[in-house]
Amino acid sequence: ANEKSLNFIQQIIEEDLQNNVNDGRVHTRFPPEPNGYLHIGHAKAICLNFSLAQQYQGKCNLRFDDTNPVKEDTEYVDSIMEDIKWLGFEWEGEPHYTSDYFDQLYDWAVQLIKDGKAYVDDQTAEQIAEQKGSPTVPGTESPFRNRSVEENLDLFARMKNGEYKDGEKVLRAKIDMASPNMHMRDPLMYRIMHAHHHRTGDKWCIYPMYDYAHGESDYIEGITHSICTLEFEVHRPLYEWFIDNITDTEYRPKQREFARLNLSYTVMSKRKLLELVTDGHVNGWDDPRMPTVSGLRRRGYTPAAIRNFADTIGVAKRNNVIDVSLLEFCVREDLNKTATRVMGVLDPVKLVITNYAEGEEEWLTIDNNPEDENAGTREIPFSRELYIERNDFMEDAPRKFFRMTPGREVRLKAGYIVMCEKAVYDADGNITEIHCTYDPKSKSGSGTEESKRKVKGTLHWVSAKHAAKAEVRVYDRLFNDEAPDGHKDKDFKDFINPDSLEILKDCYVEPCLKDAKAEDHFQFTRLGYFSVDKDTNADQLIFNRTVSLKDSWAK
Ligand code: ATP
Ligand code: MG
Ligand code: MG
Repeated sequence: ANEKSLNFIQQIIEEDLQNNVNDGRVHTRFPPEPNGYLHIGHAKAICLNFSLAQQYQGKCNLRFDDTNPVKEDTEYVDSIMEDIKWLGFEWEGEPHYTSDYFDQLYDWAVQLIKDGKAYVDDQTAEQIAEQKGSPTVPGTESPFRNRSVEENLDLFARMKNGEYKDGEKVLRAKIDMASPNMHMRDPLMYRIMHAHHHRTGDKWCIYPMYDYAHGESDYIEGITHSICTLEFEVHRPLYEWFIDNITDTEYRPKQREFARLNLSYTVMSKRKLLELVTDGHVNGWDDPRMPTVSGLRRRGYTPAAIRNFADTIGVAKRNNVIDVSLLEFCVREDLNKTATRVMGVLDPVKLVITNYAEGEEEWLTIDNNPEDENAGTREIPFSRELYIERNDFMEDAPRKFFRMTPGREVRLKAGYIVMCEKAVYDADGNITEIHCTYDPKSKSGSGTEESKRKVKGTLHWVSAKHAAKAEVRVYDRLFNDEAPDGHKDKDFKDFINPDSLEILKDCYVEPCLKDAKAEDHFQFTRLGYFSVDKDTNADQLIFNRTVSLKDSWAK
């Protein structure tokens, strides 16, 4: 790759490689906390870390950062592994867990105490917070700061042995209460939490804090480039302090920060996403309206689309908001190349071809995907009674209405040119059927003069007696505000779009779709991209609309 096309993280890595830093190894990691499902922001971090390892013949670990047992669960561990594999990445060896290092982390904490660099504090969280000071005002030292090493060792052992209640004591690093960097003002290393851990069970009642555990875990795993989001930039001196004060090897993991992904019209914190799930605003973490990897997958997004999206947005050093339409663009681009074109009618009205013999049928040939030479063709049934979209007919149409209206011709996709005669109404004024006649010589692809006749509109349709009935779920944005969590006096849930899900129960699709499987992708001609929902079964075919077509046809 040439100099210019490298992003700033690649530049850092290439410089490190040139200087043979850490023996010229590249070893990254993706370190999720198993307290929720992964979202598109995590997907960006996954693509970044795993791709860097691929580019530089390095390795990428998966590490579960499981230091807060009250929020974590094996359900999340499983879903995270599933999502990473689905995105197309493979971690190095077995997954790692910060909890595997609890013994080592404890021993290192003891070592810091012995070196006079950590102490047990009996104060409450509130007292400690009050003493923190502010960036311009130095903090106040804890009255317990100068305990003897012996006393600290004894108290820390008792903390570990469960002699104290939650919050009664903490272990703090003894650094500098006057540091201009607030994170260096004697940060917490351990807290007491009598909680069952999904892996270590009841072995521990003290748990290490992120700032302590993270860098040390990187160190244990031999990570060279520990890439995290910008808000951790101010934690970097602390990350380095712990490693410097614990180890004396030349090897050093390096923390570097990039801008987190923010996406318009959604929220992207696991806490908020969990709230949407538990409050029933969505139907689970994989609801197709969720910005989670599993939600996007169920919606019909492909791994390639998400990887391309991550690539397209690149890595930035400043926080910004990406428009959700870019994500939609990426999935359209991918599905346009791969999705089979089929016909489905979402709001059906019957079209009767009055001069087509009753009981007759024929099979027409249609391209599976004109964008893909190898996609081949298939046969679709045509008969006297079809379904077309209700809004493809208009009684008194303006001149530029190129669909169905009495006295004008349209083409039925892959079929014939038909002349619209009239609509038939019921007593309430609703259209029950539309009548037309067809020109038997105008069949698509037949080469006749009639088939070459210029007709402005082409409509999609399905044969009524052959079609499969389907439910189609049409999604809109989950929030009707660009930045639902960006309002000071309002809760993000105040901006939930009440019309984000429309369920269409009486749709009809081509018979070949009866055999479609969950997660199959299709382009419904003129309508958009659709994917088979996991709830589909032999009695009920269910599709999710992934995204509309780029140029949505005039309504
Ligand atoms: P959230 O704040 O959404 O709950 P988190 O940062 O607490 O997410 P972690 O499980 O700690 O979630 O994150 C795992 C990795 O994913 C971290 O390295 C983090 O930097 C990265 N990550 C999380 N959110 C984003 C995002 N929006 N954009 C890019 N990377 C992200
Ligand atoms: Mg977190
Ligand atoms: Mg977070």
